[in-house]
Amino acid sequence: MANRRARTYAVCAVKLDEDHTDAAEGTFDAALTNALVAIVAKEWDGEEKKGGRKGKTFTKPASELLELIRQKAHETPEVVKRVLDEPDVFLVRGSHAEERDLAVEEHPAAEASVAGTFSGSPAPKPYGTRVDVGTLLDALKVTQPVRHAREDKDETEGEPRALERRHVEALLALDAHPSLVALAMEQENRYENSAQQQDAREREQASQTLQRIGEEEADRRAAAAADLHSGPTPDDPGALELQECPVCWHEAFSPDGQDELCMQVGHGECLVCHYRRSPAIANALAREREWERGWARD
Ligand SMILES: [Zn+2]
Ligand SMILES: [Zn+2]
Repeated sequence: MANRRARTYAVCAVKLDEDHTDAAEGTFDAALTNALVAIVAKEWDGEEKKGGRKGKTFTKPASELLELIRQKAHETPEVVKRVLDEPDVFLVRGSHAEERDLAVEEHPAAEASVAGTFSGSPAPKPYGTRVDVGTLLDALKVTQPVRHAREDKDETEGEPRALERRHVEALLALDAHPSLVALAMEQENRYENSAQQQDAREREQASQTLQRIGEEEADRRAAAAADLHSGPTPDDPGALELQECPVCWHEAFSPDGQDELCMQVGHGECLVCHYRRSPAIANALAREREWERGWARD
């Protein structure tokens, strides 16, 4: 459950990080609700839900969860506290919070003056998850009317507002919480997917090239490939020899480097069909091979 929430948050948040202008409202709400439910469930188990009729329970909406976090700054200051000098921003403890002295002053002003007195060295960076309640509530004001098609009732307010980058930043900051920490993996997935799509296009183009040049020309290029490619030399002993091309199957793939695991998966270009393999694809293939090797050993 927690994993599914983190994953939904990450998928939506990474999309918004790339482009928050294109019909992002539902995406934003899904990301925010899932993140807040994960955080609240972890810190105050059960309080992410509320009872409905006939004993049914419902997940609280994002606005209520934000209000709850604000409230908790009074009730459980060891878990969440208000950030000084910022109007509506809170810091939820991180996984290492117990290692830090999180004794919270009853009077923020006193803390501020202490910090001011000992300002010789910069204050340690606060450890925790920044929950910018003000900005996130403002984001909900933007997204809710669009989702429920209410904008026509408020024509006096002028142009409907759009999500802004600061809203997305506030959403991305939630990832620091131990119940989430999901963005990096999702970004990696997206990156690899787009690399795979690019690779499919490369292969398609290379097979067309192969058809166009014909078998005779392909053989001629393959024979010339050895002279065009510089393999390992005393200066560069790590350089790879020509490899078999996965598109034309000639020994004509000319690597200009190899994968990060050093499993001799080259990235570069085929000298016959001009198939190009990117470093990202070489790395993905290397990981796959290592995985298969692991299975073979067992
Ligand atoms: Zn080829
Ligand atoms: Zn080329």
